[in-house]
Amino acid sequence: LLAASDSGGVATYHPVLDQQSLRRLQLGTEIEQAMADGQISVVFQPIIDAQSSDIVSVETLVRWAHPRYGSISPDDFIPLAEQIGRIGAVTDHVLDLALARCRRWLDQDIALSVAVNLSVHCLTEPDLVTRVRGALQRHGVPGELLTLELTEGSVVDDSVRDSTVLADLHDLGLRLSMDDFGTGYSSLSQLRQLPIDEVKIDKSFVLGMSTSQGESFIARSIIELAHNLGLRVVAEGVEDEMTRNLLTEMGCDKLQGFLVSRPLPDDRLENWLLARTGVRSAAPGAAHRRL
Ligand code: C2E
Ligand code: MG
Ligand code: MG
Ligand code: MG
Repeated sequence: LLAASDSGGVATYHPVLDQQSLRRLQLGTEIEQAMADGQISVVFQPIIDAQSSDIVSVETLVRWAHPRYGSISPDDFIPLAEQIGRIGAVTDHVLDLALARCRRWLDQDIALSVAVNLSVHCLTEPDLVTRVRGALQRHGVPGELLTLELTEGSVVDDSVRDSTVLADLHDLGLRLSMDDFGTGYSSLSQLRQLPIDEVKIDKSFVLGMSTSQGESFIARSIIELAHNLGLRVVAEGVEDEMTRNLLTEMGCDKLQGFLVSRPLPDDRLENWLLARTGVRSAAPGAAHRRL
């Protein structure tokens, strides 16, 4: 917390922690308790089939409702959790909530798959595969109903590439999705050597599609190349009809974004599903074919 500097043989110390860093450090120590207290929860954002508009999956997104600071964005506290070595615990918590939700759907005959985001740090934890397998077994959810979203950093990370972690995860029957595609350094040809099933076009490209031909061109190129490699393509950040139509024409497989639905807490997702499909997932016997 103090930085030493050598000034003529006498070490002097300067405080290097500003207010913001102090608050971050404080927050870090609160993560574990916040999970136990239910402050850290999840919302679910629907993903639909581009052609049929059927809901095919929901992405689980973590939320922290802090009693003093209000809602803290995952873009702020996930990097913090990574830095202080708590990302594994946060991931387990999110996975648990996602699979519990999936299990409740299964109990009502609804086979709706859930996606969970995985930080690159998690892929280097030696027990990750065991923990994911354990979570699936504990909830009685088949691997096919789980998608893990990885960021591009994961596949350019040497220790991940040199390990069998992606293949081992894939062997659990789950799907691997490359999140935020196009923002990192990986190329589609690199993906070909990995057990990746789908790519998600980063929302920075999708958001610009209705106004910029350049962004549309990038989206079209990603879709074509990905399809040639046998990968499915999801577009995130679909906010308007024009973008939706463009992506559908381009053959994009799945759509996600505010146009379809914002991320929703559990009870509101329930209402959204009901309004959209006429299926109340709370009612036993709802036919999963209709979702
Ligand atoms: P992501 O996985 O790429 O998730 C997409 C983000 O875009 C989400 O932000 C979502 O709310 C937002 N989004 C969805 N549709 C639209 C749209 O139409 N327009 C715009 N402008 N934004 C849209 P969120 O929930 O704040 O999450 C931010 C990032 O935090 C995620 O990006 C993901 O990288 C990370 N994250 C979230 N939950 C988790 C988690 O449980 N574990 C890990 N490791 N990371 C997480
Ligand atoms: Mg994601
Ligand atoms: Mg993304
Ligand atoms: Mg993102």
